[in-house]
Amino acid sequence: MTETADIVVVGGGCIGASIALHLAEKGVGKVILLEQKELAHGASGKGIGIIRTHYTHPVLAKLAQQSQQLFHQFAERFGGYDAGFNPCGYFVLVGEADVATLTQVVQMHQQMGIEVQLTDAQQVKAVCGELLDLSDVAAVAYEPNSGYGSPPKTTVALAKRAMDLGAEVRTQTPVLEIKLDVEGRVEAVVTPNGEIKTRTVVDCVGPWARQFAEHLGLEFPVTPIVEHVVVVERPTERAAFHPVISDLINLCYLRSDGEQAYTRIGNSDPKYHAQFALQKADEFHGQLFPHICEELHRKLIRRCPGLATVPVVETYSGIWGVTPDYQPIIDRLNYAPGLYCAVGFSGHGYKLSPIIGDLVSRLILGRVNDQVEMLNLFRYSRFQENDWIKSPFSYAQAQGLR
Ligand SMILES: Cc1cc2nc3c(=O)[nH]c(=O)nc-3n(C[C@H](O)[C@H](O)[C@H](O)COP(=O)(O)OP(=O)(O)OC[C@H]3O[C@@H](n4cnc5c(N)ncnc54)[C@H](O)[C@@H]3O)c2cc1C
Repeated sequence: MTETADIVVVGGGCIGASIALHLAEKGVGKVILLEQKELAHGASGKGIGIIRTHYTHPVLAKLAQQSQQLFHQFAERFGGYDAGFNPCGYFVLVGEADVATLTQVVQMHQQMGIEVQLTDAQQVKAVCGELLDLSDVAAVAYEPNSGYGSPPKTTVALAKRAMDLGAEVRTQTPVLEIKLDVEGRVEAVVTPNGEIKTRTVVDCVGPWARQFAEHLGLEFPVTPIVEHVVVVERPTERAAFHPVISDLINLCYLRSDGEQAYTRIGNSDPKYHAQFALQKADEFHGQLFPHICEELHRKLIRRCPGLATVPVVETYSGIWGVTPDYQPIIDRLNYAPGLYCAVGFSGHGYKLSPIIGDLVSRLILGRVNDQVEMLNLFRYSRFQENDWIKSPFSYAQAQGLR
C-alpha cells in the first residue's frame, strides 16, 4: 500500500528538525522528516554555534532576538531537551573605521529592546584579563544574553521533541525526487524505500539546495562552501573561560569551550569564501585548505599574543550553503504548489533555527501575521528581481556577513 503523509520535511539539520517539530506541535497530521544520512550530517554537525543578535539588518536582528529568547527557555519550551546553550556573553570589537556603524547598530538594537551596550576595551580587559591585545580596538558592543550552543545537540533535541509530538524521523533515507502531478502540484516524494504521497514538501537541504532542486528545473543560488575552525588549548595562566568575541578588525570570531580551556577560531572574511566553494555539497568530505588554517592561526595570535606558542589541538571544517547576499531563501514556491523551502542559511542558520521553525510552520498553515510576513524579505525571487537583501548599515570589511 502506498504510504501517505500530510507534510514531508526533507533534511535533518537544525532547520528541518525545527520545522518538523513546530508542525507537529501545531497538530497538522502526519509529519515525516527524511534525512539522507544521520541527523546533523551537514552544516549543523560542525557549526561553532554562536548565538548573538548583532545584525545590521533590523529583520535579522529581530529574528535573532526572538530565537535567542527560545534558546534561553529551550528545555521548558521543548520537552526538557538540552541545546547545550551557554549564555556566556558576547563582545563585538571594531576599529576606528567602524565606530559610527557600531554606534548606530547598537542604538537600533536598543530601540528594538535588545539588551546590548556600548562599552570599551577596559571592560573587555576586566572580563578577559590579559588574553587579548586590545590596542587597535576603538569601540566595543556587549550583549550579556548571547553566547553559544551545540548545533548537533540542538538538532537532535528538536528532532526528539518532534518525535515525542508524533512526527516520524527517518535517517538514511534520501529523497531522490519530488514528483509533481499533471498540474504541476506536489504529489509525492521518492525514496529508495518507495514513494510517500503528500501534497506538502518542505525543502530544508541546506548546502545541497542547488543539486537537490535541479530535477524540478528550479535554480537555487546556494553555493556549498567549506568553512574552517582552528582549536587551540590556552595555557594555565590564560585558562579562564572567555565570552564569545567577534573581531571585526581581523575578521574572525573566537569562542571558549565550557569543559576545557580551548579557544575555537573561525573566519568571517568574505574574501576567502570563493576560494573554498564546491560544485556540489556531495564533494565535501571534511577537506581542509591549509592556508586558511594558517591564516586563522595568525589572526588568533594577533589578537591573543599570549597564545603564540600553545598547541593547535584540532583543525576541522564544515560546510555552509551560502547565497549571494548571505541570507537564507525561505518561501512558498508558486512554481510547484505545495513546495516550500528554507535553505541557504549561510553563517546564521543555527542561531535562527528555533524561530524559523515556528514561522515557517505558520507560513505553511496559512497562519500569516506580522512575524510571518517578515519572511517575505527572504523570498526566492529576490535574486531574479536583483533585489538582494541590503543592510541600512555596513561595516568597512565584514560587509554582508553582518
Ligand atoms: C564551521 C561552521 C561554523 C558556523 N558557525 C555558526 C554560528 O556560529 N552561528 C550560527 O548561527 N550558524 C553558524 N554556522 C551555520 C549553521 O551551522 C548553518 O546555517 C545551519 O546549520 C544550517 O542548517 P540547515 O538545517 O539549513 O542545513 P544542514 O545542517 O546542512 O542540513 C541539511 C540536511 O539535509 C540533508 N539532505 C541533503 N539532501 C538530502 C536529500 N536529498 N534527502 C534527505 N536529506 C537530505 C543533509 O544530509 C543535511 O543533514 C556555521 C557553520 C559552519 C560549517
